[in-house]
Amino acid sequence: MTTDYRPMWQELGLDLKAHDNLLQNLGKSYQEIILSQKNRPESMAYLDFVMSEVHGLRIKELLEAKRNGRKVIGAFCVFVPEEIVLAADAIMVGLCTGTDFALEDVEKIIPRNTCSLIKSAFGFKLSRVCPFLEAADMVVGENTCDGKKKAYEQLKELIPNLYIMDLPQQKTAIGRQLLRQEYQNFLAAITELTGIEITVERLRRGIAITNNKREALMRLAHLRQADPAPISGLDALLINQVAFYDDPLRFTESINKICDELEERIKLGNGAFPAATPRILLSGCPMAVPNWKIPWLIERAGAVVVGEESCVGERGWRNLTVNNGNTIDELLDALVDRYFNIDCAIFTPNAEREQHVAEMAQNYGADGTIHYSLQFCQPYSIESMPMERRLQDQDHNFLRIETDYSMEDIGQLQTRIEAFIEIIS
Ligand code: SF4
Ligand code: SF4
Repeated sequence: MTTDYRPMWQELGLDLKAHDNLLQNLGKSYQEIILSQKNRPESMAYLDFVMSEVHGLRIKELLEAKRNGRKVIGAFCVFVPEEIVLAADAIMVGLCTGTDFALEDVEKIIPRNTCSLIKSAFGFKLSRVCPFLEAADMVVGENTCDGKKKAYEQLKELIPNLYIMDLPQQKTAIGRQLLRQEYQNFLAAITELTGIEITVERLRRGIAITNNKREALMRLAHLRQADPAPISGLDALLINQVAFYDDPLRFTESINKICDELEERIKLGNGAFPAATPRILLSGCPMAVPNWKIPWLIERAGAVVVGEESCVGERGWRNLTVNNGNTIDELLDALVDRYFNIDCAIFTPNAEREQHVAEMAQNYGADGTIHYSLQFCQPYSIESMPMERRLQDQDHNFLRIETDYSMEDIGQLQTRIEAFIEIIS
């Protein structure tokens, strides 16, 4: 960042000292983990620029939009429908929960045995280091797992503009009705916040923008089926992470340009790693910026991550919304149809996810799958065991990993991952 953004951060109420510390650590990890990679596609320069300005230029854009009357909505989960937000000319940003911050203070409010993702949301708020969170006119929390549901009761005390969305736990007719009602309520809340009446035309536009973004991300995903893989798992994950922050139109255009370059690389047989490098499918909990720990260890050990079965990955993007409704009711039904297909582990039963992982392993030519759960995340940890049995029954190599955001277990993880890669090689 060349511009001095400190007055802007000060105006947002950030703790400048703590924020400097965050940026310094983020910059160091980015250099060591992302920029040090060899053979990166040239068009990844766009992502490097976005990341270098993630708390700078992007926040400036958001504040300018706010001055022009637009609203900013922060979200923690892929169940929050960006289509409705865009329809009201508002901007949705993902709130990153990918690193520990102010852990000691956080554990005075919520128990130590809460997953890192939830703790991270508290850490960012308590230490006032997230300009996205501070710029948000509304923050949406969703009742997904028990951890989040109960933690939001406490978070509401820190974030008064926290809007809670209830989510079903079962994919039944009643579950569908609940989601439909929640989306209807959300539409009303967004209308009230923005003062903009959401018309059919507006909602269709919101759906089209979001569909285009997801199509570009799936185009990228499918290109990774090639051998040699045209892009590293770390770079692909970074793109999936930035999808939550960047302007959706600009982002979609840039990702399609990256895909054009990847198509050329595939034609030339130019990979991020040599052909026949062991291929890993990564499955499990979402990995928000700057959580690069597991793919970093995998690729450092000489394998390549070829897909993410995750909300920051294929689980989050693969379904599109049928955009041909003629009324708001029809379009809301189409949105519910789309979101109801997300196979998050909070649903019971959730057999689709197991099926999807098996299909991805096959389609991406994975030699093995690594399942990653955050410690204390019961939904994903519990699902990983039957999944392991099923894939192993199909003679597919499977490794279950539980970790958190600290670097304390790095040596142990490295040993396990290296041994796994040796087996699948
Ligand atoms: S894993 Fe479930 S709760 Fe988490 S972001 Fe995805 S859909 Fe939401
Ligand atoms: S990682 Fe697991 S425990 Fe944590 S918020 Fe997501 S579903 Fe809940």
